[in-house]
Amino acid sequence: MYLADLLKNSLDSSLLDLIHRIADESSALGFPIHLVGGSVRDLMLARPILDLDLTLEGDAIKLGRALVKKHGGDLTTHEKFFTATWTPQFSNSQILDLISARRETYSHPGALPTVTKSTLDDDLRRRDFTINAMAIRVDSDHFGELYDPLHGQSDLEKKLIRVLHPNSFLDDPTRIFRAVRYAERYGFTIEPETLKLINDDSRKVLAALSGERLRHEIDLIFEEPNPSAILKQLFDVDIFRAVHPQLQVTGYELPLLDDPSRTLGEFVVPDMLTFKQTIAWVLWLIDLSTLEIDGISERLAFPVLLTNAVISASALKKDLPSFKNWKPSQWTFHLDELPSLSVYAVYLVSKESALHDYLATWQHVKPLTTGDDLKARGLEPGPRFGEILRHLRAAWLDGEVKTAEEERQLLASLLKN
Ligand code: ATP
Ligand code: MG
Repeated sequence: MYLADLLKNSLDSSLLDLIHRIADESSALGFPIHLVGGSVRDLMLARPILDLDLTLEGDAIKLGRALVKKHGGDLTTHEKFFTATWTPQFSNSQILDLISARRETYSHPGALPTVTKSTLDDDLRRRDFTINAMAIRVDSDHFGELYDPLHGQSDLEKKLIRVLHPNSFLDDPTRIFRAVRYAERYGFTIEPETLKLINDDSRKVLAALSGERLRHEIDLIFEEPNPSAILKQLFDVDIFRAVHPQLQVTGYELPLLDDPSRTLGEFVVPDMLTFKQTIAWVLWLIDLSTLEIDGISERLAFPVLLTNAVISASALKKDLPSFKNWKPSQWTFHLDELPSLSVYAVYLVSKESALHDYLATWQHVKPLTTGDDLKARGLEPGPRFGEILRHLRAAWLDGEVKTAEEERQLLASLLKN
């Protein structure tokens, strides 16, 4: 009864109601349905449950259709993976992944798995770690029944990250990143036999993985509260060597990474990456040469915007000493050409006040005169236009012009020449 109570007390009532509705429908179709994976783990650890992972022994797409018929909402189906995503109308458009229990096989080490529909037991056995391989049944008569064939609860109590079988890291070496990520997040230890499996054999398979898969794992690390500690553990088990040799010598001290608050505006980030991830990549690689950055960017299939952000930041940081005596207008015209996220990153590591001033004020300073005003004064649009406006902007930035009247006088004198 303990888990039934834990569920009732930990989930908010609208979420619980949603689980009941889904479970009732699944039960009517004769499909036992379970909460699995991360949601069970986090429930037992008394941590907030972010997404509900629901796995049923049966056809998730059929269940999805039945739910839409009864409760409305939208359904997306993925026939190949036997999954459906249901967005109910009620319950402030929470998105629910309905998953058919499945078996996964690997055609060769490091391959993406082949998926076939199967039992819950098989579904748990394809998973990464024992603590992620528990299930709690949620359909009515069975609500709260734990299914834990791999002894995840015991490892949770012992605070251990343990793989399910000795080939786990060969099948999928991205699990090495996941092991360290969970260990750091929960303050757990990687169980000694599991730790031994982080060896040259699994490093070799890891080295052959695609850049996208590897980068995604590191992206996830950057979303954690303490990425530096995770990077450090990965260095300690000598994993980066297999990703890109340069990363192993780059270091892992990212003190500012741990909470880069976005105090100086909104920044453009590459597709699929968050602000936190982007700034973390920039700070991690900022002291490398352009050549080294290019190498890593190629290996990890960086989006162009990310490569540019890292290279710009790295160059700016190296150039800072030579900008010491620059006037605000010089700073501004130079920094205008760089991604502002790069400027922000360099500000975080250098605390150079000009970078702060640029982001907070200078970048927004514009003269009152516009191109239209110049046209109205009979000037032909052309390079001279830009020069005049730039001159006026510089005068404001450098404090040579402080009022509309002063700008008007400066403009008059510029036009005379
Ligand atoms: P998080 O809190 O980081 O989201 P999670 O446990 O929910 O943790 P997900 O990446 O959302 O992790 O994956 C959901 C579940 O799928 C995991 O609990 C795990 O059982 C399984 N899983 C995910 N990635 C793998 C993998 N590479 N190999 C095996 N099982 C995996
Ligand atoms: Mg999850």
